[in-house]
Order: sequence, then C-alpha cells, then structure tokens
Amino acid sequence: MPDSTRQPQDTLYRAATASFDIYNPAQALAGVLETACTLLGMGRAALYEFEEASSGFGPRFAHGVSLSELGRISASADHPVLRAAIRSRRSASSGDGSTSLGLPLAPGSVACAPCVAAGQSIGLLLVATDSGKAFTAEALATLDVLAARAAEILAFARQSAGQTYLLHKLTLLYQATNAITSTRDRDEVVRQTATHLLRATSADCCEITLLADGRARSVRFRPRLGKGLQQSLVSETVEAVPDYPVHHQVLEHLRPATLSKTPAVGSARDLSMLQEEGIEAAAIFPLTTSNQALGLVRLLYQQLGRQINDQEMELAQAILSIGAVGLQDAIHFGEATSRADQLMALGEIGRDLTSTLELETALENAMRNAQRLIQAEACVLFLLDEPGEKLVLKASGGAELRIRDVAFRLEEGIAGWVTRNRQPLIVNDVRTNPLYQSAVDGQTGLLTSSILCVPLDTRGEVLGVIEAINHPTGSFTEADQQVLLSVASWAAIALDNANLFQRVAEERRRLEATLVETADAVVLTDRTGRIILVNKAASQAFRINPERAVGRPAWEIFVGHALGDLLMRGDTDLPATMEITTPTERVLYATVSEVTDVGRVAVMQDITALKQIDRMRSQLLGTAAHDLKNPLNAIRLGADLLSDAPLSDQQRKALNMMQRATDSMTNLITGLLETIRVESTANLGSEPCQVNDLIRRAIEDLRPLAEARKHKIVYDAPGESLLIIGDPSRLNSVMSNLLSNAIKFTDPNGTIKIGVSWDDEQVTVSVTDSGPGIPEDELPRVFEHLFRGRVTVRDPNNPIEGTGLGLALAKTVIEQHGGHIWVTSPPGQGATFAFSIPREPTPKTGSLRKDAAVS
Ligand code: ADP
Repeated sequence: MPDSTRQPQDTLYRAATASFDIYNPAQALAGVLETACTLLGMGRAALYEFEEASSGFGPRFAHGVSLSELGRISASADHPVLRAAIRSRRSASSGDGSTSLGLPLAPGSVACAPCVAAGQSIGLLLVATDSGKAFTAEALATLDVLAARAAEILAFARQSAGQTYLLHKLTLLYQATNAITSTRDRDEVVRQTATHLLRATSADCCEITLLADGRARSVRFRPRLGKGLQQSLVSETVEAVPDYPVHHQVLEHLRPATLSKTPAVGSARDLSMLQEEGIEAAAIFPLTTSNQALGLVRLLYQQLGRQINDQEMELAQAILSIGAVGLQDAIHFGEATSRADQLMALGEIGRDLTSTLELETALENAMRNAQRLIQAEACVLFLLDEPGEKLVLKASGGAELRIRDVAFRLEEGIAGWVTRNRQPLIVNDVRTNPLYQSAVDGQTGLLTSSILCVPLDTRGEVLGVIEAINHPTGSFTEADQQVLLSVASWAAIALDNANLFQRVAEERRRLEATLVETADAVVLTDRTGRIILVNKAASQAFRINPERAVGRPAWEIFVGHALGDLLMRGDTDLPATMEITTPTERVLYATVSEVTDVGRVAVMQDITALKQIDRMRSQLLGTAAHDLKNPLNAIRLGADLLSDAPLSDQQRKALNMMQRATDSMTNLITGLLETIRVESTANLGSEPCQVNDLIRRAIEDLRPLAEARKHKIVYDAPGESLLIIGDPSRLNSVMSNLLSNAIKFTDPNGTIKIGVSWDDEQVTVSVTDSGPGIPEDELPRVFEHLFRGRVTVRDPNNPIEGTGLGLALAKTVIEQHGGHIWVTSPPGQGATFAFSIPREPTPKTGSLRKDAAVS
C-alpha cells in the first residue's frame, strides 16, 4: 500500500541503501522487485533481461504477477514508454495509465527503467499500479536507482556465469589430461577421451574409429543410464561405420565438420546417410597428431533439434588434442613394449634352441614360444624327410594337434610351395588360395583360415618350414613374418648343430672303436703329453690298465723309456720309429707322429713273428751256404787242376765256363753269408772313424780296378776332421760297394767324383759317376736284396758280374748307424749314390725296462 507520509528522499535513500546478496543473483533480483513494490507502493513488478541470441528482452523475475503471463519485449520496442526508457537510459512511465496498453504489466500505470551496465541496457525494470495515479518524479528517480541496482546484480551474475564456464572448461580439460596421460593403454586412452567428450558436450554418444595397422576398429560409447550417470560408459564395437563423404573430407583436411538434419547442414548424401542411421546431428573430428590422422571421432545427437554448440565444439577439440597425444603415446609405448617383448621372447627361443642338444624338446618349446609371440592358434614345424620327398610334422605349439604324424608331399600345399621356392608366404584367406589343401584340417583337427609359412634353411639348404596357423584378427602381417623368420633361423641353427653333433659323435664312436679294436697297439696323448687313449692291444702288450693311464703323463706310464720321451719331449723330430721289446717279450715296431690339434700318437706293430722268421731264415741260409761252400770249393779245385791238363779248345771253353760259374756261385754264397752277418746287429763295432780315412781306403783298394778301366777318380778331401762313431769295416764295405759299382757300370775312361759335405749334425758322402745311370722304373728297387738292373746285361756277351746284394747290405749298414742312403739319377747324367750319418749317432733300438710298465 502507498505510504503518503514517507518522504521522497527517504524512498530514494532506501532504494540506494537496501542490501541485496549479489552472490545469490536470483534472490537479489527478486529482492529488487519486492523493494520497488514496497517503496513505490506498486502492485506488480517485473525484470526483463536482454538476450543476445534474439536481441530482445525476456522476462526473468516477476512480483505480483506470474512470469508465464509476461511476453517478450522485442528489440525494436515499439511502445513509446519503452522506446523512451531505452533511448534516454532513464525511466519513463505511462502517466495515469491511459497509455499503458501494450506494455507488460498493463493495465494501470506502468513505469519502465533500463538496467544499464557498461553503457548497455542489459535489462528492463517495470513496475505497475492500478491506482490510476501518475508516477511522480521522485518515484521515477527511485525506480532508476533500483534499475541501476538490478543492472549491477545482473552484470555480476553474467560475469560469474562466464567465469563458471571457464572454470568448468579448465576443470574438464585438467581432468581429461590427467585421465588420458595417466594410462599407456590404448583402449583406456580411447575410453577416457570418449568419457570426457561426453562430459563436455550434450552428445548422446561418441564413436571413435582407430586407423592403426591398416585396419579400422570402431567403438561406440554412451553414458550408462541409471545411477552414477556421469561416471560410467557402455561401449560396443561397431562392425563398420558407414562411409560418409564428409568423413573423407575430415580425414583429408584434418578439420572438423558438422552435419544436422534441422537446420539442414551437410551434403545431400551425408544427410541421407544420417537419416539412415537415425541420427539428428553429428560432429565429426579427425583424431590427429603431427598432421597424421590416427582416427575419426563422431559425436552423435539423436534427439530432434539438438546439436553441438560453439563452446562444445571448442572443448571437444581441446579434449581430442589431448586424446590424440595420449593415443600416440600409447601406440608408441605399445610398439616399444611389444618390440621389447618380442626381442625377449626371441632371445629366449634362441637361447633355448642353441643351448640344448635335446632337439625335440627345444623345437617344441620354440614352437610354443613362437605361437605365443605371434598369437596364432598354432605354430608347427615340418622337416624334410631323408629322401627329401616329404615334409613331416616334427614339433607344434599352441592348439593341440590331434595326430603327430602329419606329412605332405613336396609337390603339395602351401608348405610344399614354400620349401620348393625357399620364400615365405602369407595366405590370409586359405579358401581362395589354390595351394591350400583342406584335407589337412581333417588330419590336424584345426579349422584353418589363415597361414603364414616360412622356410627353414641353413647354408643354402632347405631343412623344412615353420607354419603359423590362424591369426587372431585373421590377417598375418609382414611383422609376424619377420618374427617367424627369426624363429626359423634359430631353429635352423639348432638343427644344424644337432646334425653336426650327431655326425661328429658317430664318427668319434667309429674311430674310437677302430682304434680300440685294431690289432696294432695305439697310444694317444694330448699336446701336453698326457695319455688320452691306450687301446686294447697296447694295454695287453704293456700290461697297462687303460682307465688308470688316461690323464697321466706318458713318461709316468713308460718310465725312463724312449717311447715316453718321444710322446712327451718337445724337441723330437717326428715322425720317429723304433723297435720296442715289451714286458710280455713281444717286439713292436713303433711309429710316433704328431696328430694336428690333438697331440701325438704311437702306433706299434707286433713284429715278433717276423723277427722269428727272419732269425730262422738267417739260420737256414747260413747252414745251406756253409754246406754248399765245401762242394763248390772241391769243384773249383778240380777245375783248376784240370786247366793244366791237355784239353781241346771246346773242352777248355767248357772248363772256363765251369770256373766262372763256380766263382759266381761262391761270390753269391759269400754275399749271402755277409748279408746274414751284417743284418744281425749283435757284433756291430762302435769306434770313432775318420770319414776321410774310410774314403781313402776304398779308393786305394779299388785303384787297380779303376785304372784297368781307365777311370779318373776325383776326390777333394775335407779340410777338417769329420768323426763318426761306428763299425769301420762295415762302413768301409759300404764305401767300397758304392765305388766299385760306379767303376764297373761306367764305360771306360769315365770320371768318378767323391764328395763330402757336413754340418754340426751329420756328414754326407756322395759317389757320382759318368755312367749310363739308372732307369726311372728301377730306382725304387736298387736297394732290394738280389735286385740286378738291366745295365748288367747291356752287352749279353759280356754281362757285368755281381750278386744284387751290395746295395741292400749298404742300406742295412747305414741304417744301423742311424743314417740313411739314397740314389738320384737324372736321365743321361750318370748316377749319384749318397748316404748321411749322424756325427753323434743316436741309439738305434731299445727295449722297455720291465719295471716301466704299469698294470
Ligand atoms: P750288383 O752290383 O752286384 O749288381 P748292387 O746291389 O750293388 O748289385 O746293385 C744293384 C743294381 O743297381 C745293379 O745291378 C745295377 O743295376 C744298379 N746299379 C748300382 N750302382 C749303379 C751305378 N753306379 N750305375 C748304374 N747302375 C747301378
């Protein structure tokens, strides 16, 4: 009710000082209206707020009237009171009410004051009374003050609304950043991105399509209805997102786009697809980092008239940038982890395969690991059989195969093709590949859809193949092929190793058996002279326990004996030979030689029987020769007596022949007896002899013969004393034999040179003649007993006499002195016989001391 007693200054003062809680704008503005009615004695009041979207004023608060009864005030404000108020920015009124028609709050007297903030009318304060009185100037002034107070509250409310939005936006982005960057799981990044997109917008659902690995995977998220509305999302995989033209544009230009049915935004094709999907509006964004599209995001609106606004668009893009970075991170992390996992698994497979010779287990393990690595349903390994005709299943990992002995012919199937062509092959749809044989599935119990097959080869030879069967997504990739090829190369090495090992072990077994069983005694040492092997014959001959001997030094086993020395001493010249008498009274002929990378080996032949026969032969020959010599002497004596008798020419010729024959028989017998004597080492002399003396004596002995054949003997005596230890008479017979051969086989007027050379170790004597030489085919035989060459019958009427025993004897004597003898005869240059003898002779034979053997 109007209070006539109230002073106008009083109302003005109270309007200016009334307190309103501006932090509660609704209450404060309702308070302004109530104050206006009270102070001015009004029945109705209303506050209108300027709306930018429609550039008009909309009713916000009312007092004494229902808000719904109030209409909007258009920006053009065609009522004079409104126009005046807005224009003058001062209150205006309809006077006594006659002109209030068309104004809100009419009928009655209506006054309107603009709420001005920052020079703009952001609202209108209207009051009305049915009293029929006009507004006083004071009343209008009070209204102006209240309008100013309302403007203040409105402006504050607007500002804080803006700040709230900003805060909301920052909070949301902060939360999105936190949630997205705190995970490195790709699916979780996608999920968090969708969660925050749905929080930032009023979209009904969010669909994210990832384009990784050349395959598109789409998931659609929508808020779970019911309690905890904001907290959880339901997701479903989308088989195939319809191929909108706008999607291609978005991915190509990497800029978002919107589609809407009302108002119509988008191409006709896009809109008709939208219709088909039952969607009202959509916002489509590229999911991109560093100008590369990782995927496509659609925000979908399913309710009529709803669509994304500018603020939502801005927020969605910010969240998507965070999502893209998170996704890229997760992809990199996923790649790095899976690479590290792969490397580790491959390393494990390699270690496993190369560290064990249990091949079957190793291959099974490798197939199991490979299957896990590639995530195929099964991994199987086929090896070529011995004839190279069939591929036989050897190992498998993953799905249990029903039977083990599956085999392909080389001409068949994918495995056959890979083996023949030595190339990997990926078949991601076996049904359409002509190489595929479905019959195999029946055998293995697998339902094959995709196959990755790689060859297993080593040193250019294919050993088999490895197959990965059924990829989880249906398609094997190049990366899977690389992994399987690595597994294959490890497996090939393992197979190769195992083959080699088997072959070496077999050869070793065979060799060992041969060595152990061989009739010859064999002792093998390592490089330090420790026994590696004593075979059966050796252990019996030396009474050695082979097991106890192994690992001990040779000279501990052959104590103080030359065999121990030969097996251990570093400075011995090998191969070396010697005769050994064993504790079991066997005579062995031992050859000690180096075995590369092993050590030394002594191979000893049992020559006991030969020695016996030799002795018997010598005895027999000796007896026979003696028995023959006496009758021969008698014949010779008779013949000599006959030569004084008167004989006819023919008789004398026969007598001469008889004499010559008995002479040569006597020579032969003498030679044989000499051979027997010389070959027995029993009475071999051992005294110092001057080489020069030996040569001179031979020259002197044979000078008459040489002169008779008019030969020149050339000999340059050595300027120093060359001493050798030996039997002078035997050495002299060697020298005489070589010189007499040179004299008798060289045609008269020849030259015979005798040469001597020496060093610290040995002396070499050579006799060179200018005779016919020795034919090449005879050279290896001249030192054999009783060998006589063609040169002896060059003139059939006048054969050169001899026994064929001289050189054999010479060889025996020289070897008894620890030396050797040889002949050279270059065609047409005569013959050179030479021998060398150590200046410090080494013992020729030895016998093992009985206490040396270990048993
Ligand atoms: P012999 O001299 O009694 O025939 P040897 O044992 O001394 O027997 O010699 C064996 C053979 O070697 C001889 O018969 C001869 O064929 C060949 N021979 C040895 N010395 C010479 C030489 N200086 N020139 C050519 N041939 C030789």
